Amino acid sequence: MASKFEFARLPVADGVNGWWEILPPPSEATCFQGNRHFDFVVVGGGITGLCAARRLAELAPESSVALVEADRIGRSTAGRNSGFFVDLPHDISSEGYSKSVEADKADVQMQRHGIDYVRSIVREQGIECDWRDDGKYHGAVNKRGKDALKHFAEGLKRIDEQFEWLDVGAIAKVTGTSFYHGAIFAPGCSTVQPAALMRGLARTMPKNVEVFELSPVRKLARGAGGQVLSFDGGQITAGKVVLCTNAYAATFGGNPNGLLPVYTFASLSRKMTSAEAKALGGINSWALIPADPMGTTVRRLGNDRICVRNHFAFRPGLQVSPSDLRKAKSLHQRSFDRRFPMLNDVALEYTWGGALCLSANSGALFGATEEGLYQAIGCNGLGLSRGSASGKVIAEYALGMSNEMTSQLLKQMQPKPLPMRPIADMAVSTAIWFKEFSAGAEL
Ligand SMILES: Cc1cc2nc3c(=O)[nH]c(=O)nc-3n(C[C@H](O)[C@H](O)[C@H](O)COP(=O)(O)OP(=O)(O)OC[C@H]3O[C@@H](n4cnc5c(N)ncnc54)[C@H](O)[C@@H]3O)c2cc1C
Repeated sequence: MASKFEFARLPVADGVNGWWEILPPPSEATCFQGNRHFDFVVVGGGITGLCAARRLAELAPESSVALVEADRIGRSTAGRNSGFFVDLPHDISSEGYSKSVEADKADVQMQRHGIDYVRSIVREQGIECDWRDDGKYHGAVNKRGKDALKHFAEGLKRIDEQFEWLDVGAIAKVTGTSFYHGAIFAPGCSTVQPAALMRGLARTMPKNVEVFELSPVRKLARGAGGQVLSFDGGQITAGKVVLCTNAYAATFGGNPNGLLPVYTFASLSRKMTSAEAKALGGINSWALIPADPMGTTVRRLGNDRICVRNHFAFRPGLQVSPSDLRKAKSLHQRSFDRRFPMLNDVALEYTWGGALCLSANSGALFGATEEGLYQAIGCNGLGLSRGSASGKVIAEYALGMSNEMTSQLLKQMQPKPLPMRPIADMAVSTAIWFKEFSAGAEL
């Protein structure tokens, strides 16, 4: 990134984030105003920024840290996801989620590093976010899906990871539906209420962190006293800036950085009555991802709502349209009805979209771009665990530490350059369409 930068795209309300809506009203936001100096400024209050700000404050308790977020913390993408802290290989652009043995093992180690960090904060701070270490199911709905699971299972064996096969009856006992023909259970995944986690992480920051919400950074430039960040209400000069803006960092002009803002969508049902929950059967909380990465993710939440996620759309403008949301809702309803015919009166109450930050080769941006400017960007669909790790580790790197994790992240691939628009748009949209079409029954 150049030493002078304008933040061209900012988050907008893409649908209604159900996770946020079902929480109690938030405390009032503190917006940034005035002219201040901080030793560190972290831009972006998603999971990556929240972990970066906390880690900076933990390791440098005498320093001043500002965390600035354009939206409310928990309402933007990190609070909009399906809440899976995935530990296993999860390259959503590859068949069977995996890369090579060495790369898969390194990914697992990094993802667990992130999960362990956040879990320890949740426990120490007593953050109420329905954190569960209950693992996840990978469900198949036909032979194609079962073949994909076999391939995934072989990959897990190669890296010595535990898993368990469930036949049609066993997965029905968990989910209450006979929709799935078989599944793999992987024990290492944790799940959360994502908006509650993000709010909780922000609320429990160490004393030397100031959190500013509804405070978009408009410009960033290098000045005499350090990096200068411009806001609607003033300026911050900072010794060091860490950018954790994920998809909002994608550039498409003369110097495209290979980051692809690809939206995905979720819906949350209304609460089931106890009679409806009884008609569904199964256990009262489970989390399932599809055998085909383009299929439907489903969670039953302990409070008796169901969350479904599917559908992808390349939206370089970082905004979805009302028709994108209508299409997503109708796909979600169809997926819900196919899985839960016994719940035909249970409406989907909230539908929303959010931007993943993908790249053609699953590469990401990590490290320093110039003196005093750092970045940890590019979640590739796995932001909860990978973002936690890269946020923690970029803070260590910015403080001059060097360890196994900093080396691993510095070595990772850069995002592959894209062709110019509109060729890039056509190529990405066609690839998504084709993959979704192939996912067929898994939707
Ligand atoms: C429906 C859905 C389901 C998903 N499911 C999962 C899942 O189960 N597990 C998983 O790991 N991932 C999932 N994801 C992806 C996950 O949400 C992202 O990977 C994660 O949010 C990335 O975290 P981050 O902190 O890097 O970026 P973000 O969460 O995108 O945070 C970046 C922040 O920067 C802020 N920002 C941008 N520009 C500025 C600016 N100029 N000034 C100030 N702030 C700015 C944004 O408002 C945003 O809050 C899902 C995503 C969606 C949409």
